[in-house]
Amino acid sequence: MTHPFFEQGPIRPPSEAGSLLVRVSRNCPWNKCAFCHTYKNSKFEFRSVEEIKKDIDNMAEITSILKDISIREGDQGRMTDRIVNIVSNRHPLDHECYRAVALWLYYGGESVFLQDADSLVMKTDDILSILRYIRGAFPSVTRITTYCRSRTAARKSLSELQSLRVAGLARIHIGMESGLDPLLKLIRKGATAADHIEGGQKIKAAGISLCEYVIPGLGGKSYSGEHARETARVINAIRPDFVRLRTLHVVNETPLMELMQKGEFSPLGDEDVLREIRELISGLDGIETTIVSDHVLNLLEEIEGRLPQDRKKMLGVLERYFSLSEEQRIVFRLGRRSGMYRKLSDLSDMSAYENLKNIAHHYEKMGKGSLEKHLSAMMNRYI
Ligand code: SF4
Repeated sequence: MTHPFFEQGPIRPPSEAGSLLVRVSRNCPWNKCAFCHTYKNSKFEFRSVEEIKKDIDNMAEITSILKDISIREGDQGRMTDRIVNIVSNRHPLDHECYRAVALWLYYGGESVFLQDADSLVMKTDDILSILRYIRGAFPSVTRITTYCRSRTAARKSLSELQSLRVAGLARIHIGMESGLDPLLKLIRKGATAADHIEGGQKIKAAGISLCEYVIPGLGGKSYSGEHARETARVINAIRPDFVRLRTLHVVNETPLMELMQKGEFSPLGDEDVLREIRELISGLDGIETTIVSDHVLNLLEEIEGRLPQDRKKMLGVLERYFSLSEEQRIVFRLGRRSGMYRKLSDLSDMSAYENLKNIAHHYEKMGKGSLEKHLSAMMNRYI
């Protein structure tokens, strides 16, 4: 027996963990950003509308199979913990497509994310057709979101973007990374600050919710202050609904790693990244937006809140960190990077504190740089 199957791409934003992933194109049409390894050895491909619709048909078929199982098992068609367990552990249902749909239904079955890196590069009529097909197949869907590059958004007309919003496109996630032109050039973003502003403003004008991703630390030692200030300026001009922070960690087999190895890029340490975030938040002015820090690479995920009202609270988190002793700051960094800590208040767990302090001493005794190397190695695990 052949099972209904659909494709899934490698990534989605952290906030789309409960979304059904519909792959409308494969990989990234740009694929040149110096820090990014996600699609490095993969060629961009459009998928045909027929192929995508076939995937959606298969998702609908799996949904109906799973609902039948839930009814047979006495859970009235609902996707409960018990049914998710059955799906995950019983052959032949222990397949990634069944698991993906089961988890989506478990989280409410309301949200869909279009993959991969730049979905709006498709013809607008094709995207409209897909959006309508999704809503026809799944009346429970209230929110469809996607990734898009600033330049791609800027190339769409306002009326095209408005028609996408009317057809159900509720939010666009953009990797802005920085608002500083020389840095955007260095990292080969393929977009200028002006492109970011044009694309972002158009999305907002079309009534689509906008989330801009920023990379603290991306400017390294050379551009740190300017990166923070220019990024704040560009965000102030765009007025996105969300700004998401995702701290830089230079990964192997990327052009940025090569620059670093040649001594042409000097990364910031954890604490300089925090100073940069402080400058960025201080520079966001005259806008209402929500700062989100939901990436595991961020040292302080507590830096979250709504501007302007939560500015003091967010800056207060940074003040609290910098008022710690050197030992406490090292212990916190180790605790965070090892996954033991999430908040500054976790430092009050004295048994964990003593363990982490001993680990820090162990690496310090091994010589200069050992502790930082260990911290960096732990960050590699999250990439
Ligand atoms: S546009 Fe996005 S996915 Fe494509 S290379 Fe740049 S960061 Fe990676």
